[in-house]
Amino acid sequence: MAKRDYYEVLGVSRTATPEELKKAYRQLAIKFHPDKNPGNHEAEEKFKEAAEAYEVLSDSEKRKRYDQFGHSGLGSSGAGYGDFGGGMNMEDIFSRFSDIFGGGSGFESFFGGGGGRGATMRRGTNLRIKLKLTLQEVAEGAEKKIKVKRHVACKSCNGNGSKNGVSLQNCGTCGGTGQVRRVTNTMLGQMISTATCPTCEGTGKIISQKCDVCVGEGRVLEEEIIPIRVPAGVMEGMQLSIAGKGNYPQRGGQYGDLYVVIEETEDEQLKRDGSNIIYDLYISFVDAALGASVEVPTIDGKVKIKIEPGTQSGKILRLKGKGVKDIQRYERGDQLVHINIWTPKKLTPEEKTLLEKLRNSKNFMPSPDKSEKSFFEKMKEFFQ
Ligand SMILES: [Zn+2]
Ligand SMILES: [Zn+2]
Repeated sequence: MAKRDYYEVLGVSRTATPEELKKAYRQLAIKFHPDKNPGNHEAEEKFKEAAEAYEVLSDSEKRKRYDQFGHSGLGSSGAGYGDFGGGMNMEDIFSRFSDIFGGGSGFESFFGGGGGRGATMRRGTNLRIKLKLTLQEVAEGAEKKIKVKRHVACKSCNGNGSKNGVSLQNCGTCGGTGQVRRVTNTMLGQMISTATCPTCEGTGKIISQKCDVCVGEGRVLEEEIIPIRVPAGVMEGMQLSIAGKGNYPQRGGQYGDLYVVIEETEDEQLKRDGSNIIYDLYISFVDAALGASVEVPTIDGKVKIKIEPGTQSGKILRLKGKGVKDIQRYERGDQLVHINIWTPKKLTPEEKTLLEKLRNSKNFMPSPDKSEKSFFEKMKEFFQ
C-alpha cells in the first residue's frame, strides 16, 4: 500500500513550523486515540499513520531528506523509522511521543480528567484493625482513640519520592499515563489491553534524584492516634470504616481506608442477647420463700431489686431500659433477670436437723397450680 504524503496526513502545509506540526499531531492523536475509538481498526491505523508522519517531520534531519526525496529518501531500512520494524506499534507511539502530550499528567489532561486513568488510579492499601470493647462501651457507645501504624505521604517530597518533590520527569515508557497498551493480533482481530507501566509502576513519572527522607518511596511509616466514635449497639464482627486513614501508596496517589473491626469482650456476669441483657440471679430458697431485697449488676451499675415472698425458680424479672441501645432505633433494650433458687450442696448437722423438721411440713410440698406459668409459657411471653 502506497504511503500517503506525511504533510497530507497531518493536514499541514510544507512550510509548517515545528509548533504547527505538533499541534496538528496532537489533534489527530486525540481524535484517533484508541481510548476514544475502542475496537475501531480504521482509527487505529490513522493513529499510527499520524504518529509515523510526525515522527519523521518533527526530526529536522529526516524532514529534510523527506522533502528532497520523498518516502524513499528515508533510508534503506524502510523509512528511517526502521527501528520500529514494520511500522510503529501502539506502545512505541505512546512512549515515543510522551513529550507531545506535555503537562504533568499526560494523556489524562487531554481527555478531561482521564476518567481515572494513569496515576490517578493509584490507591494505597486499606488497613484493618481490631477494636475490643467492653459491654458498657457497646451498650452506650464510646469515644475511642486507636493507635495505627500506617504509611503516610512524605512531607519532604510531597509524597512523590523525588528530591524536594521536583526531581521528576515524565516516564518515557508510558508517556506519563502510568499505563501501557499492548496490541495483540488474535484470530478475532487486534486486541488492545492495558497494563500498569513496568518502568514507573503506574505513577507516570521517573525520579531523577531520590528524596533523602523517604529514599524514593514517597511515604514514611508513622504511628498515629486516630479518634473514633463507636455508636451504641455495635455488634461483634461489625466494621466501621474511616475514609482516607489507610496507607498511602508508594510514590503518590490516594490514601486507602481504615476498617475497624468490633470485638466484644465477654462480661463475666452480663450476657448480651441482641439489645437485651441476660443475668442469672441465684437466691436461697429462704429468700425465695420469705422475700428479700437483693443487688444485681447492670450496665449502669448495681441496682436493688425486690424478691416477692413465694418467688418460684425460673421466674424472669424485667428491668426496663437497662439493656443495650439498638443501633438503628436508638432505644435501649431491657435486662432480664433470670431467678434461680440455690439448693445447698453441703449441710451442717444443725442445718440438717432444721430441714428435717420442715421436710413433711405441708407448705413445703410442691403444689404448682394453674396460676404458675410453665417455662414454655414464660419463654413465649418474653420472645413475642
Ligand atoms: Zn511509565
Ligand atoms: Zn520523600
